[in-house]
Amino acid sequence: MRYEAPTTLQGAVALLAGASGEARVLAGGTDLLVQMRADVVDPDLIVDIKKIPETRAVAEERGGWRIGAAVTGAELKEHPRLKQVWPGVVEAANLIGSMQVQGRATLGGNLCNGSPAADSVPALIAGGAVATLAGPQGTRDLPVEDVMLGPRKLSLRRGEFIVSFLLPPQPPRSADAYLRFIPRTEMDIAVVGAGVNVTLDGSGVITAARVSLGAVAEKVLLVADAARVIIGSTLDHAAQQRLEAAARAACRPIDDKRGTVQFRTEVAGVLARRAALIARERARNA
Ligand SMILES: Cc1cc2nc3c(=O)[nH]c(=O)nc-3n(C[C@H](O)[C@H](O)[C@H](O)COP(=O)(O)OP(=O)(O)OC[C@H]3O[C@@H](n4cnc5c(N)ncnc54)[C@H](O)[C@@H]3O)c2cc1C
Repeated sequence: MRYEAPTTLQGAVALLAGASGEARVLAGGTDLLVQMRADVVDPDLIVDIKKIPETRAVAEERGGWRIGAAVTGAELKEHPRLKQVWPGVVEAANLIGSMQVQGRATLGGNLCNGSPAADSVPALIAGGAVATLAGPQGTRDLPVEDVMLGPRKLSLRRGEFIVSFLLPPQPPRSADAYLRFIPRTEMDIAVVGAGVNVTLDGSGVITAARVSLGAVAEKVLLVADAARVIIGSTLDHAAQQRLEAAARAACRPIDDKRGTVQFRTEVAGVLARRAALIARERARNA
């Protein structure tokens, strides 16, 4: 097995595109190394992207925030301003594993591992994040909800990898939130995850919203109907009920020992409502 750690985007793309066997990007390694040790994957080439400056930066851009794909959850938490603007994204990244895992685990790895239960993905989708990809044809942008196609299946082309994510500018009175249900208090995979982002007008009416659900389908879902039924409301009781119903209607989960179809569907409604209430409260104070 060959290990390379290029320092430029072009260098990484050349290695990935030119590989003759299986090539894998390495970010934090908290999924990849575990899978290699378990013989689930056996790459011929590993391309460590952490020495490429664009993958490691967090910076304001056109009023939004660009986050490198290889920035860790711990680094996001310590960022002086990001948590004020995108508390849901930061808290989702910091639900991943333990403190040790958060010191390695990245947003890019969480998305590209291709798990429908990945914690940071619903928060990124609710936030309207766009992934910037580098590949043999140059760079292109892809909404995060379009990156994953199904378990372990991505829409990335040969030689492509994610360089960074752009979270758009948050209008005044906007905020996000992420909640997950796990049977334990930490170190567990989400049975359901829900990310919500809302914008309020001066009288507290929701003028824009995005709702995303994890672990209830073959990929993390953007649930447009759940957003539609709360826009124009103050998230009163009736709107909360509409939100719960729309979230549940979008669910097509697996049935396993960690959660039945019925349980996951029920919890998806509850978490979407609770995350929306937290986002609304934060937006009132934003
Ligand atoms: C003990 C433990 C607890 C965990 N708990 C959670 C949890 O609570 N919630 C959760 O969601 N996950 C959890 N995970 C899974 C894992 O930590 C996360 O998915 C993490 O975000 C992966 O990031 P990474 O940087 O370590 O990815 P890596 O392991 O480096 O990569 C993961 C996959 O993505 C690919 N990849 C990485 N970066 C890119 C990129 N920029 N472009 C293209 N492909 C890329 C790699 O080739 C690999 O296939 C846990 C893992 C462990 C070991």
